[in-house]
Amino acid sequence: MPNSHKKHKEQKPHLQVPKHAHCELCGAPVRYGMEFCNAEHKDLYKKKARKERLMSALPVIFVIIIAAASLMISIIMFSPPP
Ligand SMILES: [Zn+2]
Repeated sequence: MPNSHKKHKEQKPHLQVPKHAHCELCGAPVRYGMEFCNAEHKDLYKKKARKERLMSALPVIFVIIIAAASLMISIIMFSPPP
């Protein structure tokens, strides 16, 4: 009984695409080393990134405020009476 298992992995023909990158905003192919297809997308992406960074920082800011507030309350509660 011949061994029918094909162990050799067939290599897919490599697409002849020159080294390139994709626009960070819309995903359009751009020249290698470039991040965006145009200046407008670069601007939009930076604005979006800034907004997202702010949004991701909000819970941290919230926790800090809560921690600071509870610390203040505990200081007031346990401070000796005058
Ligand atoms: Zn783009």
